[in-house]
Amino acid sequence: MTDAPPDAEARRAIPPVICYPTETLPQPDLSLYARARKGARKVDEALAPPREAASFRVPAGHFFRITSVEGPQVGDLNLWAADNHDERFYSGKTRALHGTHLGVGHRMWSSFPYLRPMATLVEDTLGWYGQDPFGGRVHDVIGTRCDPHTHHLLSGAEYHHCCHSNLTRAYAAAAGVPVADAARMVHDVLNVFMCTGFTRDTGQYFMKASPVRPGDHLEFFAEIDLLGALSACPGGDCSAEHSSDAAACHPLLVEVFAPDEAALEGWSSPPVNGYSGTHGV
Ligand SMILES: [Zn+2]
Repeated sequence: MTDAPPDAEARRAIPPVICYPTETLPQPDLSLYARARKGARKVDEALAPPREAASFRVPAGHFFRITSVEGPQVGDLNLWAADNHDERFYSGKTRALHGTHLGVGHRMWSSFPYLRPMATLVEDTLGWYGQDPFGGRVHDVIGTRCDPHTHHLLSGAEYHHCCHSNLTRAYAAAAGVPVADAARMVHDVLNVFMCTGFTRDTGQYFMKASPVRPGDHLEFFAEIDLLGALSACPGGDCSAEHSSDAAACHPLLVEVFAPDEAALEGWSSPPVNGYSGTHGV
């Protein structure tokens, strides 16, 4: 290892700056959403069975709620623009804008070149959790999704109910495409209810038992027409392991709510990103 230079401590002592200050980030009108939600009625639901995924559609201006039912369970969420599946959730840029874990008022942003809010988080019954003594928080955008390729890399085994495969099957059925094509459309997720962080000593990604309990929910306002898929992770509450049938698993419920149209006066679905796309050419 290279010896530390004489000014090592001085270099380490330089304070950090936030990469993406959010003062100029368009902010959601949460009080408008809250008023609209009051008169909303349930119009649809889907149930992701244990170790499986379910797809669902949410029109722009509707709300969708993900609820833990029966027992503690973590979910892996993918979103696509309903009319153009090339536009999909961009976990990495969402993380860069909002931080490692999402809370009320944060958005799920879409991929380039679209980069616009797909959904806004409006309610979180685990908002009280904050940060635990290990540095763990809930609802991360740092993990990717459990998948059979990494599992095979690490163990040499075949397992078909990782979230990646569950989401692939759900997307294939919803979009009417072959599984091989569907697998390329699955992307890094929002880990709903999952409690994660990085170890302080080695910086490794860790998970621990989710604090979620039946009845807990996470609710979103759909900013654009959405196709969603949610996998009930084979890790269950992710207290021990995933990519196997070892953990106790439970279903996750998705419900869609429609507000009165008049209640959304003043709101309009966000346009795609305004950058010219010329890249200087
Ligand atoms: Zn998973």
